Amino acid sequence: MMTAAMPHIDPKTVAGQRVAVLGAARSGQAAAALLRRNGAEVFVSDGGSISEEAKKSFQGEGIDFESGNHSPRSWEADLVVTSPGVPDTSLPIREAQQAGVPVISEIELASWFCRAKTLAITGSNGKTTTAHLLGHILRQAGHEVYVCGNVGLPFSTCADTASDTAMVVLEVSSFQLDHVDTFRPEVAVLLNITPDHLDRYANDIDRYAASKFRISEQQTQADHFIYSMDDERLVRSVREREQTGLPGPRALGITLSDSLTTDIDENRHQTAAGFLRNGNLMLCIDNKEDLLMHSNELALKGRHNVYNSLAAAVAARVVEVRSDVVRESLRSFEGVPHRLESVRDVDGVRYVNDSKATNVNAVWYALESFREPVVLIVGGRDKGNDYSSLVPLIQQRVRAVIAIGEAAPRIHHELGQHVQDAVIADTLADAVQLSQLLARTGDVVLLSPACSSFDMFDSFEDRGDQFRQLVSNL
Ligand code: ADP
Repeated sequence: MMTAAMPHIDPKTVAGQRVAVLGAARSGQAAAALLRRNGAEVFVSDGGSISEEAKKSFQGEGIDFESGNHSPRSWEADLVVTSPGVPDTSLPIREAQQAGVPVISEIELASWFCRAKTLAITGSNGKTTTAHLLGHILRQAGHEVYVCGNVGLPFSTCADTASDTAMVVLEVSSFQLDHVDTFRPEVAVLLNITPDHLDRYANDIDRYAASKFRISEQQTQADHFIYSMDDERLVRSVREREQTGLPGPRALGITLSDSLTTDIDENRHQTAAGFLRNGNLMLCIDNKEDLLMHSNELALKGRHNVYNSLAAAVAARVVEVRSDVVRESLRSFEGVPHRLESVRDVDGVRYVNDSKATNVNAVWYALESFREPVVLIVGGRDKGNDYSSLVPLIQQRVRAVIAIGEAAPRIHHELGQHVQDAVIADTLADAVQLSQLLARTGDVVLLSPACSSFDMFDSFEDRGDQFRQLVSNL
């Protein structure tokens, strides 16, 4: 996926270089601005349209741009910086690679300029939650903190301004890792790998996994790699790296499986740095065991959030945040919108917005986190989902399935047979009305779509905001 020979360009030498930036959305705009303020000659090229706001800011900064087309200027450059939305099969990337022009992601570019300590987080699910959780802990510990990356603020907006004592918590997607080369976070977290975005990886989960593992590729013995020991693929990758005998980062595993923690040294050649014992979150770093807190005390509910909390706790301890600060922060964290966000109680029914659940695995964890009967609003644009893993939880916990969006007929067919009531709703408004009719006191109405939002909404945020609005009108 990478250009073969990738020279590391010293950021100081970016000045005067011709750099093409592919994509004019948030990360492309931020990369272009970073390059421009460091003296590069920047050209932004977007195959689609460019917002008026972006055009104005390019003009103001002296950045040339084109839209609706990629002309040769988008690859005839000293360097190409690509955005996560641009596939490797696109014309400028192919042309640049053929001509031996380095192609890098915005993350790689920003990392050249960053003097702050970088704690990077990737995985199929839980990146945003863990990044914000870790950001919260570090702030509580008194650090200057930037939470940026895949969502929200792009890395390029703060990379060259964060001081060398600051902490950058960086959420990275696999697309952003496709084109990294020298990117070397001091702490890297790989939460999990489950099927997602496989359309961009020739339907090959190994290629997708390899992309995620790149987060740690340049790490050295001075760095730390935090990963889930409950993910076989990750355990295998860590072991393979160790067997090469080459110096690598210190690997710190986290696990929720009690049985694994007892003979973990023998079986896995690893010591779990974060694990659960009798419901307590335990840390073990430098052979010192530390009982952090009971999982009931965590602000975020659900088993998946125990993983996220353990990962954030281990990362925070690695950068020497005291345990009592970690504990207090995990208790006080207010959560992230659209991720199992409680909206409102109406007539004893709790309405929960989990619009960010855009794949099946996320819905699995959402369902797993409730003991109450659930009325599930699910559907949207199907990404080649396999819903079968949801069936046992649907049978146990779901009272009714309300299917929406393009995937509604398929979901109704595959999941509807396992519940008392299954209906298709034409709009989200209808779905919310129906949910009120189907739910009984004590139930949870959960919007957890397993699908992308683009068939009916601008984004998952838009979907969640509309849900919130509809629920507040009940
Ligand atoms: P990401 O940024 O990786 O998409 P988010 O933190 O935004 O992850 O959460 C996305 C969805 O995945 C949410 O619906 C949430 O309930 C679920 N989720 C969060 N953490 C995990 C985890 N560790 N494992 C599985 N699912 C998770």
